[in-house]
Amino acid sequence: HRVSASVGVTLFGDHPGERVEEPLKRADMAMYQAKLAGRNALCFFDPKMQTAINDRAQLETDLRQALITQQLVLHFQPQASLQGEVVGAECLLRWQHPQRGMVPPGQFIAVAEESDLILHIGQWVLHSACTQLARWQEQPQWAHLQLSVNVSARQFRQSDFVHQVIETLQVTGARAHLLTLELTESLVLDNVEDAIDKMHQLRTKGVRFSVDDFGTGYSSLAYLTRLPLHQLKIDQSFVRNLGSRPSDDVIVQTIIGMGRNLDLEVIAEGVETEAQKAILAGHGCDLYQGYLLARPMPVADFERSLGGPAAPPQ
Ligand code: C2E
Ligand code: MG
Ligand code: MG
Repeated sequence: HRVSASVGVTLFGDHPGERVEEPLKRADMAMYQAKLAGRNALCFFDPKMQTAINDRAQLETDLRQALITQQLVLHFQPQASLQGEVVGAECLLRWQHPQRGMVPPGQFIAVAEESDLILHIGQWVLHSACTQLARWQEQPQWAHLQLSVNVSARQFRQSDFVHQVIETLQVTGARAHLLTLELTESLVLDNVEDAIDKMHQLRTKGVRFSVDDFGTGYSSLAYLTRLPLHQLKIDQSFVRNLGSRPSDDVIVQTIIGMGRNLDLEVIAEGVETEAQKAILAGHGCDLYQGYLLARPMPVADFERSLGGPAAPPQ
């Protein structure tokens, strides 16, 4: 039997009046650091650990506040055909923090995912996206626009996820086939049977599914064919090196070919240059999203970029 130990160490005695819990807490933090460093190790407490934990707790508190005080906004990044016809947009969350400024999702989604906050945020995003779809439906020139919404694993795992989506569609009046939910491979693989069941229920209502960051997970053809998917979204890491890293050319070509054989639409994200777009087009990619076309932007800018008469202010 092999046993290993992770040890956290801290000094005590130089803070007069300190309660016994304090050094124990510090030692505990250091011990977790030792585990994080690969276990079977010894780690001394560093005040930076405390700062990191406090910062995180503060971020979570601020995020809860952000939901209540409406600091969260959706930005829209257009998705277009090869000819440049905009078919819709991806909704990307932004946090307009009064002190921190615009906080990108990479900095707060992970924190939100560690608590039930992500459920509230996810519901807010879904509701906002569907409200937007319903508004566009009333304008003939925009009625065809689709929206893609990112769904977190924790959100999708809720037992009433299907009900939430259907209810949101009903309450807002958005047409289901204009809503695409973006799932990641790992989310689906985490519990394939549950994912298939939920996706089928929503698919019968018209909701579409896309696999986000496709190619970065452990996709197997076997499960791909079992999922009621509409779209594969090629991860931007493959698009980035198109033309310079031959292996990425092959991956992209394979994904597009696979999409075609499985009768799935393929979209590339992170398309920044004409050269990348040309290579993707050469392989038969259906849709394009990236800085080449436009950066994510507030809804008013998105509508303006489409041309045509502006919507009346809401
Ligand atoms: P994602 O869904 O893969 O979104 C694509 C990211 O690529 C976005 O970053 C987008 O701004 C960025 N991007 C788009 N075009 C280009 C390009 O041409 N070049 C480069 N370098 N980047 C490009 P963003 O907005 O920072 O979002 C990051 C991630 O945060 C998203 O990755 C998504 O996983 C997550 N996220 C964003 N909004 C939501 C949301 O409402 N709910 C959930 N659960 N996650 C969200
Ligand atoms: Mg996405
Ligand atoms: Mg992506």
